[in-house]
Amino acid sequence: MAVVGASETKRFKLDASYLIGLRRVSYRSIRAVLQALPGDLRKACNADNVETDLKKAANAIFDDELRTTIELPLDDGTTFTWNLARPQAVLRKFAAKSPALQRVLGALAVGNSFRNPLSIVHYNDEVTSGNLLAPVRGRSFTAFRFSFMEFGKLLAAQQFWFEYAILRSSVLDEVVGGESFVQRKLQHLFFTSTESFQLVGVHLALGTGTKVVFARNTNLIADMAAASACLDLKSASGLKPCVKCANGVKKGVLSDAAHPVPNPDNHLVEITTATLRDFVPNTNKALWENVDELRRMKNSVRKKKMTKASFELAEMACGLVFNSDGLIADAKLRRYFKPVDMHTEDWAHVYLCKGVGGDELAHLMGRLREFGIKYDILREELKLWKWPKVHHGTGKGTWRLFSETRAAAAQKEDGSWKSSASEMLTIAPIILDWICRNMNTQMPGEVESFRRFCEVIDYIQGLKRQIHRDVPKLQRLVERHLQQHWLVYGNDHWTPKWHATLHLQAQITRDKGIVLDTMANERDHQVAKSYGDIMKNLGFFDEHVLKRSLAYQINELEHFEERPSLVETAIWNEDLGATTASKMSIEGVHIAVGDFVRTPAGEVLEVKLCGLADDDLFLITDACEKRSEATAGSIDVRRKLDLTLVWVRRWTDVALIRCWKPFIDSEGEDALRMLV
Ligand SMILES: [Zn+2]
Repeated sequence: MAVVGASETKRFKLDASYLIGLRRVSYRSIRAVLQALPGDLRKACNADNVETDLKKAANAIFDDELRTTIELPLDDGTTFTWNLARPQAVLRKFAAKSPALQRVLGALAVGNSFRNPLSIVHYNDEVTSGNLLAPVRGRSFTAFRFSFMEFGKLLAAQQFWFEYAILRSSVLDEVVGGESFVQRKLQHLFFTSTESFQLVGVHLALGTGTKVVFARNTNLIADMAAASACLDLKSASGLKPCVKCANGVKKGVLSDAAHPVPNPDNHLVEITTATLRDFVPNTNKALWENVDELRRMKNSVRKKKMTKASFELAEMACGLVFNSDGLIADAKLRRYFKPVDMHTEDWAHVYLCKGVGGDELAHLMGRLREFGIKYDILREELKLWKWPKVHHGTGKGTWRLFSETRAAAAQKEDGSWKSSASEMLTIAPIILDWICRNMNTQMPGEVESFRRFCEVIDYIQGLKRQIHRDVPKLQRLVERHLQQHWLVYGNDHWTPKWHATLHLQAQITRDKGIVLDTMANERDHQVAKSYGDIMKNLGFFDEHVLKRSLAYQINELEHFEERPSLVETAIWNEDLGATTASKMSIEGVHIAVGDFVRTPAGEVLEVKLCGLADDDLFLITDACEKRSEATAGSIDVRRKLDLTLVWVRRWTDVALIRCWKPFIDSEGEDALRMLV
């Protein structure tokens, strides 16, 4: 439905799905805004009844084809009727609305068949309402999404992750069989329902006609807690904390002087070992055998042939929580869902969100304090830097990371510094630049550890953007960092996230060079969260948040442009004989006026205008004068007015400068220090 009205001179149209998708705005406030319009307009857009109109429109999006229900048994003996969208129908609806998705799926449909299916990646994560340091449990929820590995670089766009279900945490906590049961039900929706992705394919209208697209499971990406909940892994609390390793055991159990676990053949290895060499890969078969064995033992416990304590020891030993309602216990799903093969570490959670990076930073801050350097010095340093438009939102607030509150939170949480993934990516190069310049002689080991950490995250980003292709090199960088960190700080604080770093290289190789992560969804969460935060009536929470998220995504996909293009308002410029705008986008690189870029030849340019002529993008820029070469990741430049035209035919033609800060150079001139 669209809210259509006529003013005196021309018709205007309010797009209902646009209004439904508006973030942080309740229907009631939309009504209030429309009611404030002059009489004719107010009447034309039916302002007084707009809430009802929007609810109808939301129902039209969440129609019978989309809607399905799953009955979730709860601990108190009641059942929760969960309204969610069928993933197949979501894909069909999105494709129908989005020319970009039609083009992309159209290309992937060529040669697609039962034997040559697309690869589904599942993603689910808890979205915490409120803020990082003060979460609100009542409005927190898990969002369920999927995408296809074949989207490649488009996986970095949140529009290409399809959300089909929302479940409030307070309900999920009560579900018999937990998240694993929920995930099991969802897998049946994907694979054993009448429109099985793998067996019958999904019918999609793709511009040129209807195509049947087949897909199978290849990946489940989640943070450690969500992956453990889905697969019933004991994770850190089990004797075997890593699902990928057959012989990796919990830190300390072999070296425990009082009660060492026997290890006659030296087969078992503690999880804190800083190299992958000693670990033996686990298999699906072995995991399923463990589940089946636990089932038999559970029966023995029931028949009083085995004690509960021995059963719990067996669970500990194989690192599993036996859950007869769970995903990995479902024999029918074993054909479609291979837990060990699909398990995918999210490097963003491993390295950036309260992970290895958080530990690295917290330890560095501890050592800096010994030299009298407090976090306020870094806070003031961060305030000096500027970021490209695309990262400006994150960048400008990062100085807040270095506050009393965050420091106290870090103390509470085993010393790990709390940040979002994008915050860590934003601050890491600046901290590195500062410690290299100021602390290298006092604490070279610590500086080196942080440098190697930055080297790893830079290299992973390079692999993700396909600038680097040498995946095995990542293993060397990861292990080099682990060894240096261990040397200066020890490894008492290493959590399973530290061990997970060792698996990233093999995972990227398995995924044919694609670096999967949840970075795009970190931003996407903000969308669903924005509806969750304003929701008053928790009774309809899941459905309401889902409907609004679906409307938002439909809008986003409708306007999504995967081809190189100018962004936002473009105008024809007679003098240039070209269309110009203030922003452009080319294969995931977003450039805006005011940003700095570097050419492959090393020139540094300030962007003055983005343009499009004869299907080719170009930038009009001012060249800068280089005062130093890029050493340790930084260059000093001076601005000079020297208009330069650069064609941007490929995304590699220019690279965005990460951040820059003004300073007065040794000759007293205004200069800029750039991190590249
Ligand atoms: Zn492992």
